[in-house]
Amino acid sequence: MKAGILYNDREIRIGEARDPQIGPDEVLVAPHYAGICGTDLHIYRGEFQARVKYPAIQGHEFGGVVEEVGRDVKGIKAGDRVAVDPIISCHSCPACVSGHINACRTLRLLGVDLAGGFARYVAVPSKCIYPLPENIPMEHVPMVEMYGLGHHVLRRGEVQPGESVAILGSGRLGLSVLDVLCHGASPALTIVADLQPFRLETARKLGADYTVNIVQEDPVARVMEITQEVGVDCVIECVGHYHLFEGQEAPLAQAVKMIRSAGRIVTAGLGEQLSPVHFKTLVLKEAQIIASRVTLGEFPRAIRLMSKGLVHPELLVTEQVPLRDVTAAFAKVDRDDPDTIKVVLDVQQV
Ligand SMILES: [Zn+2]
Ligand SMILES: [Zn+2]
Repeated sequence: MKAGILYNDREIRIGEARDPQIGPDEVLVAPHYAGICGTDLHIYRGEFQARVKYPAIQGHEFGGVVEEVGRDVKGIKAGDRVAVDPIISCHSCPACVSGHINACRTLRLLGVDLAGGFARYVAVPSKCIYPLPENIPMEHVPMVEMYGLGHHVLRRGEVQPGESVAILGSGRLGLSVLDVLCHGASPALTIVADLQPFRLETARKLGADYTVNIVQEDPVARVMEITQEVGVDCVIECVGHYHLFEGQEAPLAQAVKMIRSAGRIVTAGLGEQLSPVHFKTLVLKEAQIIASRVTLGEFPRAIRLMSKGLVHPELLVTEQVPLRDVTAAFAKVDRDDPDTIKVVLDVQQV
């Protein structure tokens, strides 16, 4: 079969791969659309070599149509439109038995550790399959995973209606969190900080009350001013790899300064850099820092929000590219084009 294959660092192109064979509890899915995510970019840049063996087929945000089902699979049939949750856990390590299958010690993801959605066909465990309502267009199916992440972040932060929330970083993840926050969690105040004007404009369209351009303003000072020096109930860090502007600290250090006493900080970005934090401030506030990784059963919630038209995938999917142009699509995402949020690959066009 044809697939978008990563042969080496920054070397992705269309190639031939062996057709996947399904086991008795697996489903053969023909992906229709697959998103390019920040993690895909890290893999492309060669930062995941411990987990990703070349040649690799990436793509963990995808959905499509069922081609064939294994003999033990119930309730799924050929022709079904489906979204795929890429997480495969062991269900027996300490994290799994305590219910955190998303933090499994040997967590594997389709499209990272196993072949993913940038291909004509993928073998998917039946547990990972979610039916997609007819009113969700296929080109939005990669956003199911993104909105699942958004839900998970907000659950981790125990965000309640009427609370104030600051989101640091309005890239693909930050804006997905914001969309779920504004239209599924009833906050009283949302503040979004980023360095790209287009992303901040999108944040305002999604319902952000305030946006802070960190090139021009210090987000800590601005958040404290907006909240009359109280700080926000929850800060969500979605930056990952950060750039420091004059007089500013790393996002996590900023979060410690702008959180109210006894507030919650959720870290969801995947940065390699260290983040020095003023621990005395953290202790005196008795604030919490909570990590959020992938999703934990949030796919049905994300699908329901999308099916009801409450969230705005049309604002976040800024580009559809045929899979045959995968090389150019990755080069563009790698350049961090300022007008690009989510690029999805049309996998049928290969
Ligand atoms: Zn992702
Ligand atoms: Zn496990």
